[in-house]
Amino acid sequence: MARYKQSSINEVSRRSNLAELVSGYVHLKRNGTSHIGLCPFHKEKTPSFHVDEDKQLFYCFGCGAGGNVFDFVMRAENLDFVDALQFLAQRAGVTLEEEQQSGGRHDRDAEQRKRLLELNRLAARHFYENLSKPSAKIAVDYMNKRGLDKKTAIKFGVGFAQESWSDLLDAMQAKGFTKDELVLAGLAVKNEKGRVYDKFRNRLMFPIIDVRGNVIGFSGRALGDDAAKYMNSPETPVFHKGRNLFALNLAKQSGLKEGIILVEGNMDVVSLYQRGITNVVAGLGTALTEEQARLLKRYASQVYVCYDGDEAGQKAAQKAIGLLTEAGNVVKVVSFTGAKDPDEYILKNGPESFRALLKEAHESVEYKLLRLRKQYDIYDLSQKISFLNEAAGVLAEIDSEVAREAYMKRISAETDITVEAIRAEVLKLVYYRNKKQVNKELLKERTPERLTQDRADLSHGQSTATYKTERTLLNLIFYHRRAFEFAKEKVQAEWFSGELHRQLFSQIMAFRAENDDPHAAEFLTGLSEETVKQAATSLLYINFEGDSLQGIKEAASKLETEYLRKQAVKLAGEGKVKEANEIYRRLNERRG
Ligand SMILES: [Zn+2]
Repeated sequence: MARYKQSSINEVSRRSNLAELVSGYVHLKRNGTSHIGLCPFHKEKTPSFHVDEDKQLFYCFGCGAGGNVFDFVMRAENLDFVDALQFLAQRAGVTLEEEQQSGGRHDRDAEQRKRLLELNRLAARHFYENLSKPSAKIAVDYMNKRGLDKKTAIKFGVGFAQESWSDLLDAMQAKGFTKDELVLAGLAVKNEKGRVYDKFRNRLMFPIIDVRGNVIGFSGRALGDDAAKYMNSPETPVFHKGRNLFALNLAKQSGLKEGIILVEGNMDVVSLYQRGITNVVAGLGTALTEEQARLLKRYASQVYVCYDGDEAGQKAAQKAIGLLTEAGNVVKVVSFTGAKDPDEYILKNGPESFRALLKEAHESVEYKLLRLRKQYDIYDLSQKISFLNEAAGVLAEIDSEVAREAYMKRISAETDITVEAIRAEVLKLVYYRNKKQVNKELLKERTPERLTQDRADLSHGQSTATYKTERTLLNLIFYHRRAFEFAKEKVQAEWFSGELHRQLFSQIMAFRAENDDPHAAEFLTGLSEETVKQAATSLLYINFEGDSLQGIKEAASKLETEYLRKQAVKLAGEGKVKEANEIYRRLNERRG
C-alpha cells in the first residue's frame, strides 16, 4: 500500500472545503460559520448534522458521526483512508508525494497480499467457469431446486468446485501460482505427509467479496453428503472472518438508509436478493463477532436480525442482539412462522410478505419481553411473579426513562399488576446496577477493558459532570495557547476518569507542542482508532466562551478534586485510613 507524505496529506486537507464537499451529498443550510443539514449517516427528520467552516469538522449530534474531510469521504463513499486521500487529492488537484520506500517487510507483505487477492480472483473465475461443464450437473440441479436464477448466480459470482483433489491446484499452478500460495490462500490443504490437495471439493462456491470488490475468501455449500454443510476459507493474510460479512459489497451498493438485514446463511442472502430485497448480509459461518457488529454500525443505522426459527437460531439471535446493541446499533428482530429460514419463507410467501415482516419487526426490548411473555402463563400466580421478575430485568437495562415507563404501563395492563409495583421492582435493579457500576469505576485500574467501557459510555451518550469538565479542559488546551501552557505545568493525565480521555490528553499535548496554530482537522488525521476519533471530534466541536485561562483553572481544579476524592475512597477501601484522611484534610484545606 502506498504511503504518502504528511505534508501531502495536510495540503489535501487544506485545499478541500468540507462544507462544499458535503453539499454534494446533503442539502446544507448556512448558520454563521456552521452549516446544518440532515445527517447522511442516520435516518432523521430534523437536521442534527453540522459542518463547521472554520474548524473543517463535521459532527452529527444525533448519531455521533464526526471527523474531518477524510473521515467524511471514508464514510460516505465507504473507502479506506488511502482511497479517500486519493479521491480528495484528485478533486483538489494535489499531486500526492510518496514516502521513500524502504523495501522492508511492509512491502513484502503488501506484495504477498496482492498475489493472494489475484489468486482468489482467478480461483473465483475458475469455479464460475466450472459451472458450465457437464460435471456441474449436481450443482446446476441444486441451484434449480433452490430456485436460484442465472442472473443472481452471476451477480454473486457463484461457482462450482469439482469433485476432484487437484482441479483447482492444477488450474492455478498453470497460471504461475505455487502450491504454497494456494495453501496460504486457504484454497488447498497440506496433509502430514506433505501432500497438497484442493480444500473445496464438490461444493457450490460463493466468493466472499469485500466492499472494495476484492475476492478475499470463499464459502462452499456441500452438494454431496458431506457432514459440514458450509465450509469457509480459514483465516488468511487477506481474510479475517470476524471482520467481514457475506454480501456487504452488494448490500452497500443498494443503499442502506432503511437499515440492513442480517441473516444466518449465504443461501438466505442470495434468495432474498434475487427477490428484490438487496440490503441483506450474512455472518461467515461463525457466531456474530464484536467487530462485525461494529462494521454493521458503520454502514447502517438499523439492523434487522432475521435468524432461523429453530432453537439454535433463536439462541444465536439473542447473542447477536446483545453484541449489536452494545455496538450502538438500533436492533429490530424479525420473526416468522411456517418456515425454517428466511429463504424458505420468501420462497413460500413472496417478497411482499417478507417486507411486511420487516415492518412488523420488534425493537429488541419488545422482542425480549415477547419471548418472556410466551414462556410464562401469567394466569398462574407463581408464573406471573416469575414473569415480572424477568421482565423487570429487561426493563432495568433500558436507559431511557420515558421508554421504561411506557413498557411498564403496557406490562401493567397485560398482567394486572400495578405500575407502582413493577416500578419498584425495576428501580431496585437499576439501583443495584448503578451501585455495581460505581464500585467498578472506583476500583478499576488502567486496563484495556477500560477503553471498552468508555466506548459504551459514549455510545450511551452519557455525559456526567466530570465527563463534561474533561471535555472542556481538552478543548481549551487544544485551541488556547494560554490553556496549553497552563496544562503543561499543572494538569496530570491520571486526573482523567477514563482511558479514552487520558489518551486524548497526551495526544493533544503532543500535537500542541508541535503545532502552534493547531488545526482540528489535521489533528484528527493522526488518530487511527475510530472511537478516539469520534470522541475527539465531539469535544473539539465545542466553542468555549469566556476567559480561557480562568476556564482551564476551574476545570483542572474540579478534576483534581474529583481525582483525589476517588483516591481517598480507594485508600479507605484498602484499609489505608490514615492516607485517606490525609487527602480529605488537604481537600478541606483547599475549600477553606
Ligand atoms: Zn447522524
